Amino acid sequence: MTTMREHFAQNILSSSENLEDLCSACGESTTLGQWIGCDSCSRWYHSTCIGLIKKNIKVFVKKTWLCPVCK
Ligand SMILES: [Zn+2]
Ligand SMILES: [Zn+2]
Repeated sequence: MTTMREHFAQNILSSSENLEDLCSACGESTTLGQWIGCDSCSRWYHSTCIGLIKKNIKVFVKKTWLCPVCK
């Protein structure tokens, strides 16, 4: 089971690199925390990197959200 889990984790890591889902604010690819995607340019940001708090995120996810670059 340990081997399978490691393999699975590696798959996640490599696929996230292929998808280039790097935070456009800090450039990190970590999947920790919440992310929000811009509806205009499809950049992705950590919520913390753009100063969104969890409470606000739920509102923004339902609506159109534009990143600082597109605003
Ligand atoms: Zn970030
Ligand atoms: Zn944008």
